[in-house]
Amino acid sequence: MLNIVLFGPPGAGKGTQSERLIEKYGLIHLSTGDIFRANIKGETELGVLAKSYIDKGQLVPDEVTINMLRSEVLNHKEAKGFIFDGFPRTNAQATALDQFLAELNTSISVMLALEVEENELKSRLTKRAEVSGRADDANPEVIANRIHVYNNETAPVKDFYQSQNKFVSIDGIGSIDEISTRLYTAIDNH
Ligand code: ADP
Repeated sequence: MLNIVLFGPPGAGKGTQSERLIEKYGLIHLSTGDIFRANIKGETELGVLAKSYIDKGQLVPDEVTINMLRSEVLNHKEAKGFIFDGFPRTNAQATALDQFLAELNTSISVMLALEVEENELKSRLTKRAEVSGRADDANPEVIANRIHVYNNETAPVKDFYQSQNKFVSIDGIGSIDEISTRLYTAIDNH
């Protein structure tokens, strides 16, 4: 199996690049943000809970997120591989991911980290708000909080994969095609 963690701060381009990668490599795309938003739209219990965190730019608690992701993975046991987009966002999530992939006799192949500096992120998210309709993109304070949470809780996950020799840094500035090519090269060379 080819299992990729696509990593990066909010607005780094994980969603856009995931679409390219699933097509090229035939992977199942699991985006925790998309799954939460589908639950919010469907007004499920999980959606109501997730919304109370997402609207403030906070992380949904690990236990909830891990259980949700685990059941998505176990629902796709026949997959050629997965692309994890927006997960793991904490070291506890990374540890749990290793555990449940081991249950399927597989593991993470590579973590690709899109690197984009903060001012560029803020401008991309503000622009995305005009089309996404996402409340968490429309409010500068919520954006700032998401970036803060990323720096404090999520960025350390890089070290988790670095210590397993799975971390690859990718320059996230350039055209969508240029960045896709960088990702393909990193995957094919791994
Ligand atoms: P972005 O990468 O632009 O922040 P996402 O769609 O990945 O957007 O995530 C939106 C929000 O969903 C996050 O700000 C967070 O509140 C919640 N979320 C997504 N993934 C996770 C996760 N792995 N753990 C906890 N919360 C998450």
